[in-house]
Amino acid sequence: MREVIVIGGGAAGLMAAIAAAERGARVTLLERNEKPGKKLYITGKGRCNVTNDCAAEDFLREVPRNPRFLYSALADFAPRDMMDFLERNGCPVTVQRGRRVFPASEKASDVTRTLVRVTERLGVRAVYNCRVQGLILREGRCAGVRTEDREWPADAVIVATGGLSAPLTGSTGDGYRFAEEAGHSLTPRRPSLSAIETADAWPCELQGLALKNVTLTLRETKRGKILYTELGEMLFTHFGISGPLVLEMSCHLPEDWREPGRVAAELDLKPGLSAEQLDARLQREFAAAPRKRLANVLPALLPARLAALFPELAKVDAEKPCGEITREERRALCGTLKSLPIAMKALRPIDEAIVTRGGVSVKEIDPATMASKKVPGLYFAGEVIDVDAHTGGYNLQIAFATGHLAGSCAAEE
Ligand SMILES: Cc1cc2nc3c(=O)[nH]c(=O)nc-3n(C[C@H](O)[C@H](O)[C@H](O)COP(=O)(O)OP(=O)(O)OC[C@H]3O[C@@H](n4cnc5c(N)ncnc54)[C@H](O)[C@@H]3O)c2cc1C
Repeated sequence: MREVIVIGGGAAGLMAAIAAAERGARVTLLERNEKPGKKLYITGKGRCNVTNDCAAEDFLREVPRNPRFLYSALADFAPRDMMDFLERNGCPVTVQRGRRVFPASEKASDVTRTLVRVTERLGVRAVYNCRVQGLILREGRCAGVRTEDREWPADAVIVATGGLSAPLTGSTGDGYRFAEEAGHSLTPRRPSLSAIETADAWPCELQGLALKNVTLTLRETKRGKILYTELGEMLFTHFGISGPLVLEMSCHLPEDWREPGRVAAELDLKPGLSAEQLDARLQREFAAAPRKRLANVLPALLPARLAALFPELAKVDAEKPCGEITREERRALCGTLKSLPIAMKALRPIDEAIVTRGGVSVKEIDPATMASKKVPGLYFAGEVIDVDAHTGGYNLQIAFATGHLAGSCAAEE
């Protein structure tokens, strides 16, 4: 009977353990925390957006880097397979807006509990409070792992230690060290699905304000090429901007985005109106109240706190009576409403990001098996690998699919 060791009891590790045990291996799961799936508990704000009910080609469009690496993993274990797995094991699911799949109970704990129950049923030996220190590399292959007090021999080892985001859940990047010690190269690790610090102070002054139905656009400054544009929700914070649109946009930032003049982000505060329609609307508002000050008219168009700040952003005198606003000033107001520039300074630190971009290079992992191309007996699964995706359940599905493939292949090598 083949001995398989899985390092890490997160989404990828639990699924890898299940797949390996289903194929008849004797599986030991080593998890540094006192319990498995700590990160799973906080996913989807505690509701766990467990996968996305879409076809493979749609899925791969949501993976900005190295999507082709995932072909085999998604063919082996597609979103539908994850949904069936949960349903079959007593955790009904519900598909919501954007084909996002959640447990019907909307409790992330139900997903973890289901995964753990299946590992128990299959006889996986789970050892908690057990932090792996390193791999045993002997005669050119991976022969097990080392913890503080002992060695754990194995025929195959699956590294499923996660990335660097939310380190309090246990993912502090140990797997990167294991990979490097085994001769693997790492691509630079950066925050992805991250909030953004702004260079200007005005977004911070609006801390706590959420905007709905706005369009956020990211473009290359020189060529004007649009890298991202989406309608949705965003939030101002004490450091700058956050919320779904901002997290998503952060995925589309090129590596060198901080070079001066490289990219520009702008906000359309009135995406439902064309520039002409908006100008006509302003003309109507101003004609209806020519003696009112601009500051008193803007709250009809914008949330009060943003309205109070807006004349300064458009460089128009807030005290000016509407009847005296010139055509140029109206153009400036209109232009700022349609494309308000947001000067970005930095991503928030990686521990605050939703996922880690970068990691174990996909060039050195066989996409058909998740096996190391360098060291026989070594496999990788989940966020430790250099793949990440947009929000919508894609990142967890990547963890489940790569975990499933790694587990299956490690058991049958
Ligand atoms: C706040 C938040 C919300 C999210 N929401 C969603 C969502 O709704 N949908 C979605 O698709 N994605 C979501 N994600 C992303 C998703 O959670 C991750 O992509 C996914 O959990 C990665 O799974 P993993 O198994 O690779 O890593 P992890 O889930 O991080 O698991 C790694 C495990 O390895 C253990 N470990 C690490 N080192 C060692 C060691 N040396 N020895 C033993 N054990 C070790 C850790 O303790 C941990 O349990 C969210 C992430 C965050 C931070």
